[in-house]
Amino acid sequence: MREFGYQRVLDVPGAVAQLAADPETRCLGGGTNLVDLMKTGVERPGRLLDVTRLPLGEIERTADGGLHIGATVTNSDLAAHPEVRENYPALAQAVLAGASGQLRNMATVGGNLLQRTRCGYFADVSQPCNKRVPGSGCPAVEGEHHNHAILGASAHCVAVHPSDMGVALAAFDAVVTYETADGPGRLPLTDFYLPVGETPHLETSLPSGALITGVTLPPARLAANSRYRKVRERASYAFAIGSVAAALEVRDGAVHGARLAFGAVASRPWRARAAEQVLTGAPATAETFAAAADAELAAAEALPHNGYKVTLIRNLVVSVLTELCEEAT
Ligand SMILES: Cc1cc2nc3c(=O)[nH]c(=O)nc-3n(C[C@H](O)[C@H](O)[C@H](O)COP(=O)(O)OP(=O)(O)OC[C@H]3O[C@@H](n4cnc5c(N)ncnc54)[C@H](O)[C@@H]3O)c2cc1C
Ligand code: SF4
Repeated sequence: MREFGYQRVLDVPGAVAQLAADPETRCLGGGTNLVDLMKTGVERPGRLLDVTRLPLGEIERTADGGLHIGATVTNSDLAAHPEVRENYPALAQAVLAGASGQLRNMATVGGNLLQRTRCGYFADVSQPCNKRVPGSGCPAVEGEHHNHAILGASAHCVAVHPSDMGVALAAFDAVVTYETADGPGRLPLTDFYLPVGETPHLETSLPSGALITGVTLPPARLAANSRYRKVRERASYAFAIGSVAAALEVRDGAVHGARLAFGAVASRPWRARAAEQVLTGAPATAETFAAAADAELAAAEALPHNGYKVTLIRNLVVSVLTELCEEAT
């Protein structure tokens, strides 16, 4: 493990100045992903800037009735917050579906967004991996890929993003806020993660040296009728092999509004806009829900050992939307 410096920072301008001054400096949230990767040599920062004491630990109502969640809010506090549980229940459920109680007590919102893939080749420095060492190859395409991507991947990388929280945030049109030495910025979560293409090592459109300050959720009445469902290979303490975040509003038997995002199918939380288009205005029936899933999954490109995800996601969409429909009517 490379030797590294450690510094705690107490104010945002100070943090941004330090990040700008030294490109080898990395933010340290709960450390639950970064420190693990440092131990295995995947990450080798020269200095860690502990951001957990920054004044970014609040969850507050915005002027338009949405919610702003500070970057250092822990996953546990996010899931327990009354406004989140009441107005964005899928978000609370997604966070609680991730990791363990101890990890959620440490892990932060900013760190969760930037956690790295769980692809086994990425984590093993003895293996080639285009994401870790650009141009070295992607052994997962011919090798172990049963939990890899079916949407939006490329021959250069087929890894999936592991975050549960991010899937609910994608469904709810979340916007990531950040600060750099040049001033503040905002990125819709759906633009925050870059398409894989030929550059899987470039994961986000966050400017270099940026400090994530939080995530803003716009007000959305239909988010109150929402759900997150995660399928995993054991009942707890495991990453998703497929997940769905959904919100539904039904009026007079028809879908008035819908939000849908999938997890563990792509390099980023996957907003299912083609499915939403099929849903909007259509009869709120299981047939419509299946047709919506099929519209989104028409673009799926499965590898030899992950085609099960197409059926898995289709079934999840139908079951979650059927439940939300029953509760809405
Ligand atoms: C055993 C285990 C099981 C897990 N299971 C799940 C699961 O099922 N679902 C799930 O979603 N997650 C799961 N996780 C992942 C866990 O949620 C992440 O490790 C955690 O969210 C990362 O948060 P952190 O604050 O600890 O990030 P850190 O490890 O501190 O940082 C992660 C990255 O974010 C950067 N960063 C942190 N804060 C900021 C900021 N404010 N601005 C800019 N950059 C920042 C760091 O520099 C680093 O690159 C699991 C983790 C473990 C260890
Ligand atoms: S899928 Fe991506 S992360 Fe995994 S080995 Fe291939 S390039 Fe690396």
